[in-house]
Order: sequence, then C-alpha cells, then structure tokens
Amino acid sequence: MDGYNAARREPNRERLAARRKNPKYRDADLARLAARREAMPHEAWEHSYRARAHRYGFEPIVESFTRDELIEAYGAHCWHCTAGAFEELDHYPVPVSRGGAHRLDNVRPSCLKCNRASWRDTPAPIAEEPPALARTGEAIDRAGLALAV
Ligand SMILES: [Zn+2]
Repeated sequence: MDGYNAARREPNRERLAARRKNPKYRDADLARLAARREAMPHEAWEHSYRARAHRYGFEPIVESFTRDELIEAYGAHCWHCTAGAFEELDHYPVPVSRGGAHRLDNVRPSCLKCNRASWRDTPAPIAEEPPALARTGEAIDRAGLALAV
C-alpha cells in the first residue's frame, strides 16, 4: 500500500511543481485556493491546528465544526472583548500549546488583538518549554491562520 503511493508520489510532485511555475495555471490555482479558503475556513483551521498540535507533541483532537456553527455558539464578534471583529480562531480556554482540542467547546472567535494578547499571557506548558523551532512555527502558523480567516 505504501509502495503504491510512493511510486506515484514523485511523478505527481514534479507534475504539480511544473504546473505551479506555469503562469497560465498559477493565478487560476491561487484564486481557486483563496475562494475555497473563504468558503470553507474551517478546513484551513483544522489543517493548521493538526500541524501545530503535532509540533507541540500532542495527538490532535479534531471535531469538525463550520464557521457558521461557531458564530451560532459564540456570536460573530470577538468573544473576549465583544467589540472586535471575528478575525481569528482562538483555542480557548485550553491553548493548542497545552494540548487543547480543536472542538467547538474549546474555540472562540477572536479579534487579532485579543488572540495575540492571550497568546502572550499563556503560561509555558507545564511539562517543558516547546523547542525554539516550535515557537517559530507557531508564529508562521498563526500568520497563516490570519490569512485563512
Ligand atoms: Zn477582542
């Protein structure tokens, strides 16, 4: 099974790399991707969450929910300050760095400012500090999340 996939992965990777370089397809592909992210932000959230959980050494816990379900549960504004717009998904009360689940009961809509603030105030995980690489990835990942929302 693994061999079957591996044998097809390499040629496919080359084909996709060539396609990405071709301006004829590149712009259309990027536009399609952006439209998909806008239509289904929860896919990007889950993807980003899984990567972050793995980086922190936790097994990701994902229970799918849509943006609409999140808004129905917590409103369309920042859950923390209630004044800010829903710009990012905040894993709250248990942050991803402490093994927080990607579940409707552990996420809140957040404005950028509040999400950044809660990130700063979050104490380091009890077990050990995440490695420097994880912190760097975290920053990149959160930026990616902001783009995706
Ligand atoms: Zn806020």
